[in-house]
Amino acid sequence: MSVQPMPWVQGLQPYQPGKPLAALERELGIRDAIKLASNENPLGTSVLVQEAISAACRVLGRYPEGAAPELRAALSRKLTVTENQILLGNGSDEIITMLCRCFAGPGVEVIVSQYAFSAYAIAARSVGAELIQVPATEYGHDLDAMAARIGSATRLIFLANPNNPTGTHFSAAALDAFLAQVPEQVLVVLDEAYAELMPAENYPNGLERLSRYPNLLVTRTFSKAYGLAGLRLGYAIANPELIALLERLRLPFNVNSLAQVAAIAALADHEHLQATLTNNRIGLALLEQGLKKFGLTTLPAAGNFITFFTPGLAQPLYEALLQRGVIVRPLLPYGLPSQLRVSVGNPQENQRFLQTLGEVL
Ligand SMILES: *Cc1c(COP(=O)(O)O)cnc(C)c1O
Repeated sequence: MSVQPMPWVQGLQPYQPGKPLAALERELGIRDAIKLASNENPLGTSVLVQEAISAACRVLGRYPEGAAPELRAALSRKLTVTENQILLGNGSDEIITMLCRCFAGPGVEVIVSQYAFSAYAIAARSVGAELIQVPATEYGHDLDAMAARIGSATRLIFLANPNNPTGTHFSAAALDAFLAQVPEQVLVVLDEAYAELMPAENYPNGLERLSRYPNLLVTRTFSKAYGLAGLRLGYAIANPELIALLERLRLPFNVNSLAQVAAIAALADHEHLQATLTNNRIGLALLEQGLKKFGLTTLPAAGNFITFFTPGLAQPLYEALLQRGVIVRPLLPYGLPSQLRVSVGNPQENQRFLQTLGEVL
């Protein structure tokens, strides 16, 4: 091939998603596989959302309204921020990419923690920035070490609270101590993909800190608690100047029509969210106890998933589970060869996972 990519593209590895349910069912010729591999909502899409989407199908011949004014209004009411503090993205993955296009490039350093959510690395490296991975402490962000690593070339820092795939999270005190050390020309991106699923006590809500730190941006998503992973919708909240800057980079129709109406309906469906939170709380405790009963060590469980240590390398256990129709997530791409991540399922899925794990161990 004679076309040549930019030099940094050669070093990128494609993202490895959880194995799709349909792919495994096709391979095994079965119909009852379960997927606990991508931290999706096990209760699925709310009925109100499905109805809203069906109604909106009639207008799919038209382009969406790019600025998504109704959704932004709904979000601004929900979060008590102004509409010009909100940027919508095609998943928070797109927001992460836009942040790197805006603030990073060759000669710029982007700081993340070891084991951090891999979208940061892909986005930073894809614009030719230098990715600085600060060694983790007990698998979590070493915030002091990350602050100490900030240099004159640093423009962007990604924090995930909790982090995926490790589930590690930090306190309000730790976050505040960190933010106090970050120079104002460095943007801190606080990824709160699991915010709705975190118990309110002890969870440092990034939104409450935006007025104090103009260099803070919070990202959230409809992919997890709101059950809209397939529609791709995430958002950023920050001060209006920062959002206006990012709006220049937003492609005209990045949030599709169905995602817009679905999100409005999802925000209004309090029952579905409550059912999701209850299922998650119970499921997380059940999985944690079940794993401990097998004598397996777990990382701190947060959000809607648990990462656990397997007795040896994780790959054979992953394959054995796959053969029995249970998809979990191997973490070798994160440099965690003996760990597997399992997402909370519905009660039947959680039981099936634990029972199958017992069989293959
Ligand atoms: C799942 C997840 C996201 C969400 O990505 P979307 O693109 O919005 O689906 C972002 N950050 C973390 C840490 C996640 O685990």
